[in-house]
Amino acid sequence: MRELAHVKSSYQEIVIVESASHGRVLVLDGAVQITEADEFVYQEMLTHVPLLAHGTAESVLIIGAGDGGVLRRVLQHRSLERAVMVEIDGEVIRLVREHMPGIAGNAWADPRAEVIVGDGVDYVSHAAAGSFDVVIVDSTDPVSIGEALFTEAFYANCARILGPAGIVVNQAGVPFMQADELRQTSLRRSTAFSHVTAYVAAVPTYVGGLMALGFAANSPGLDRMPVDILRRRADAAGILGMTRYWSPEVHAAAFQLPPYIADCLPR
Ligand code: SAM
Repeated sequence: MRELAHVKSSYQEIVIVESASHGRVLVLDGAVQITEADEFVYQEMLTHVPLLAHGTAESVLIIGAGDGGVLRRVLQHRSLERAVMVEIDGEVIRLVREHMPGIAGNAWADPRAEVIVGDGVDYVSHAAAGSFDVVIVDSTDPVSIGEALFTEAFYANCARILGPAGIVVNQAGVPFMQADELRQTSLRRSTAFSHVTAYVAAVPTYVGGLMALGFAANSPGLDRMPVDILRRRADAAGILGMTRYWSPEVHAAAFQLPPYIADCLPR
């Protein structure tokens, strides 16, 4: 393991290492965030699932995601007109651009992208009502700077800035290790959204089995899209055949939750 960068920013300790097994790895406050080897699993599922469930997403808000991997995937969608990314720590962006440039590729230069260094909580409290189709929260866990992104007030603002078929997704931890994270965030999301569920992905780096991604909307059925519709939408979006984990079948199956995970959701 070779250390490439080690910076204490005003928000957190940022370390980037080179590993033989996973390539370059981003670690924040001691917690592994992403690795070059398997970031595609998490980023494809956090991006393509809500955008294709929505079907005509033009305006997307990304909170956190300082590595730029979600931004790159969002910009792959042909229908996309505007992607706003709000990352609290500019040092994460700077260091990942320097040491892991392949994660975001040239997404930073895309004219549809607006990258803001700021607090996501503050941004959603000032954004206009109905101004986004999808909100993607790719944050650290619900501790320190990330905690405020898992509150009822934050979800109430997400519901306000989303349009009628709007969807919010968030990283909700690994239920086998962090069942409370999914249980708590789902309860809080149910105070602002009528349809609260989750889907899963197997991210090798996130120890403990299936990772949960929270999914909430105020329209029914967005978590039950038929495979043929997903395939047609992915083709129209220009991402069919471009992915290594997401597929129409994997998307549909990801909402079929094992009971120990389904039990974490509000009845
Ligand atoms: N995939 C990773 C995971 O599941 O653990 C998350 C990766 S991403 C790098 C997390 C980002 O969220 C970090 O860069 C962190 O600075 C950012 N973040 C944490 N709290 C934030 C907030 N309140 N507003 C905006 N960004 C925030």
